[in-house]
Amino acid sequence: MPITGNQASLYIHVPFCTKKCPYCHFYVVPDKKILVDRYLEALEWEWQRIKPLLVGKQLVSLYWGGGTPSLLPPKILADWTSRLATDEMEITLEANPEQLTLPLLCELRSAGINRLSIGVQSFDDQLLSLLGRTHSSHSAAQAVLWAAEAGFPEISIDLMYEIPEQSLASWRSSLKRATELPITHLSFYNLTFEPHTSFYKHRAQLKKLVPAPETALAMLQEGVATLEAVGLRRYEISAFAKPGHEARHNSGYWSYRPFLGMGPSAFSYWEGARLRNSSNLHRWAQSLERGESPVDFSEKLAYPASLQERLAVELRLLRGVHLPSLEDLLGPLPRNLKKSIDSLKSQDLLIQRDDMLQLTERGLLFYDDVGAELVSL
Ligand code: SF4
Repeated sequence: MPITGNQASLYIHVPFCTKKCPYCHFYVVPDKKILVDRYLEALEWEWQRIKPLLVGKQLVSLYWGGGTPSLLPPKILADWTSRLATDEMEITLEANPEQLTLPLLCELRSAGINRLSIGVQSFDDQLLSLLGRTHSSHSAAQAVLWAAEAGFPEISIDLMYEIPEQSLASWRSSLKRATELPITHLSFYNLTFEPHTSFYKHRAQLKKLVPAPETALAMLQEGVATLEAVGLRRYEISAFAKPGHEARHNSGYWSYRPFLGMGPSAFSYWEGARLRNSSNLHRWAQSLERGESPVDFSEKLAYPASLQERLAVELRLLRGVHLPSLEDLLGPLPRNLKKSIDSLKSQDLLIQRDDMLQLTERGLLFYDDVGAELVSL
């Protein structure tokens, strides 16, 4: 979907989880009532603070991310959603399978949520337990079936590969199970060891158990082939969708649609700057209570870094980047960037068709290297 001048999105970070997964680097806190009450109070202050920025904007998507937004009472989600939503909007809620029941899903659907993103991660019970997840492969599949029964037009799931002890056979069987379910969208990611996580602390032992690089590559290639074979078309490095079911909100991140983030640790991208709220519920709430901004980090890249970053991010989209539009917006491609693009083309990592620059099949496999090269100059 092309981004027009006055479009914007809204992201709300809900930081509550029943327990912290050992690989997770998101800002999360226990779902204690006292914290939830404080959060909801401050969220209202934050909304009053940012609301004027949205005057004259067309809000095209609302994304409840986390954390586990499905832990919030459906009545609260319904109240907020009805205040913010318009008929045309994509409204996504991230949810974990263990909380989802058919009555809850029906309630969420009636609340106006039209897209559900379910954190499945794997359909292998042993791997789920290694990942510290509290759902089973059966409850994950059941959640998807109930979501369809409750009438969600958009159902997305997440899967993970390169998990310690994961075999190619296990990955294949997770992919097969996923394709048998009524999903419209799937994202898959390789597990990474992020600082400040329990997995990071134990990375020396765990890294011995992750699949070898050639197996990881085979997992990626089989993943793409399996999903494409059932009509889940790859439209971004990690995202696959049935035609017409691409995530509107996430597509905005890759094509630089402005968005405002609410909640502790939420990011925003507004007037060319990237901003982040304090990653501490109390500090975030306190700032808002005092009538101050909860943003504790902001950055506005200058030319040519702005152009390099945007080129690298937009290349994640399989449709590629329209170079003349990029140059009109951010300035001409510097000479060393052109050289770098030429070198990536000669390595069969990038290809140019008329004015569109795209990743090749090989470039899709090695995107991290391509992106790093483009921003490192
Ligand atoms: S449920 Fe999701 S957000 Fe919560 S700790 Fe686990 S991975 Fe992190």
